[in-house]
Order: sequence, then C-alpha cells, then structure tokens
Amino acid sequence: RGSRTKKKDSVPDLSFEDIGGQNRSKGELKEALDFLIHRDRINQYGIRPIKGILLSGPPGTGKTLMAKAAAHYTDSVFVATSGSEFVEMYVGVGAQRIRDLFQEARNLAKKKQKKSAIVFIDEIDIIGGQREGSQHREYDQTLNQLLTEMDGISANMEIQLLVIAATNRKDMLDSALLRPGRFDRHIVVDLPDKKARIAILNLHLKNKPLAKNVSVESISDETFGFSGAQLESLTNEAAIYALREKSEVIAQKHLSQAIDKVMMGEKTDREATQ
Ligand code: ATP
Repeated sequence: RGSRTKKKDSVPDLSFEDIGGQNRSKGELKEALDFLIHRDRINQYGIRPIKGILLSGPPGTGKTLMAKAAAHYTDSVFVATSGSEFVEMYVGVGAQRIRDLFQEARNLAKKKQKKSAIVFIDEIDIIGGQREGSQHREYDQTLNQLLTEMDGISANMEIQLLVIAATNRKDMLDSALLRPGRFDRHIVVDLPDKKARIAILNLHLKNKPLAKNVSVESISDETFGFSGAQLESLTNEAAIYALREKSEVIAQKHLSQAIDKVMMGEKTDREATQ
C-alpha cells in the first residue's frame, strides 16, 4: 500500500492555474465541483449530490493534475490509488483495499478538519472493465466494493465524498459504473491544441533560463499531437541539452533537439512493446 500512505495525503497544493489549456474541461469540472462547495444550497433544492466524475482522454493530458486541482479548489483532502495496484491480487484483497481507501479518506478529512474528501482512482478501466465470463472474479469483487462505497454516499454525511476516476479507455468501462448516481459526470481531457501547447510550454519554462529570442509559438507549431506530459518532458530535455553545452540559456536549437528526442523516445517505446 506504499504509494498511498507515504504521500502527504492532505489538500494538494496544485491549482487549476497550474494546468495549461484544458479550459473547457476545467470549466466543466469546476461547475460540477461547485455542487460540492455549495452543499447546503444543493440539499435545500433536493438535488442529489454528485458522487463520481469520470475524466477520460489520452495518456499524459493532465487528468491526475485535474483531480488534484479539484481537491485544492474544494479544500478537500485527497487520497489516490490506481487500477494497476489491483493487478494480480488475491481474491478479497482488492475489495478490502477499496474499503480501506474510503475509510482513509473519511479519517483524513476528520483529522484535517475538512468537510470533504476526494478519492482519485487512476486507470479505472483495469478494475472497471466490462465483465466477461467468470475470468475476472477478483476485479468483480473490487468493482462491486467500489460501487457499494459510492452507493453509500449521501448528501447528509459528515464528510462529503467525491470519487474522481481517470481512464484512457472509456469504451472499455462496465456500464454499471456509468449509471446515474455513480460516474454520471463525464469530462473529456483531450490533447492540447496550439494555444494550449503554448500555455503548457510557458508553464514548464517559467523557472528555466530561456534565451530572449526563443519563439514558444514555433515550438508549439512543431509539436502537434504532443500531450502535456510530452511537452513537460521536452522542456526538461532542452534544459539538459543546454547544460551539456554549458550554455547559460536554453536556445531555440536546444528545444528543437528536444522535440526530436521526445519523438524518438516515443518511437523506441512503441517498438519495444511490439
Ligand atoms: P496518465 O493517463 O498517463 O495517467 P494523466 O492524464 O493523468 O496521464 P498527468 O499525470 O496529470 O497526466 O500529467 C503528467 C505530467 O504531465 C504532469 O505532471 C505535468 O508535468 C504534465 N502535464 C500534463 N498535462 C499538463 C497540462 N495541461 N498543463 C501542465 N502540465 C501538464
């Protein structure tokens, strides 16, 4: 259970301003989160609380960042797990871990005197994939436990819980997960367009020594199809090239080299898995 308990596991120090682009998805997410913030008013109107939000989109587009920013925005404690942690577990262990995770979220919120907690589940498709036959008995139990926890969330709980899940395979998800009262808010987190790439590059270049004549716009033109994670990697590689050459600043050529490096890296990764 390492990664979960080792973390500071409180309110994340990451806000929506730290996420480049994604304006539409940030807007949609904030709108849903306002329900959590204005809980009293929601109760007054008899609106049922939002229990689950599903973020879907390609890898590295900032889904984890969005979940953390959501916790920051709502002043909620944040606990996280990933579907990959449930791979090859003995029957019953996964379900127990889900139970523990929700308990941990409630306990932490109480301890930190917060009114709400966000439980983040990355790679939900691993435990929430379509059920076929009896092959995935363990995942079934884990998923059932998650559904039970979500069904148990109600508007008048002392600690309001919200589950945010991420996937890049929404088509794979079991329809039981997408039913009303479960993950019934769906937000697409897509690859950044040109303007968003500029914003993301600027965010990651902010604390780096950049040559005055660098055109971030031209870098953005050359990185069509890059994810936020790849853009972050590009800025890091460019800084390494500059350091290697003992250049005091990161120049355009370092950024160009880094583009090639990130593209090549992707290629070798793909070849290695083929
Ligand atoms: P995965 O599907 O692979 O889990 P993800 O969508 O959850 O990916 P994150 O883990 O949120 O992606 O992003 C990985 C890293 O990429 C971040 O830590 C950040 O450095 C960078 N990044 C991704 N998207 C953005 C963005 N929109 N703005 C700024 N940085 C970003």
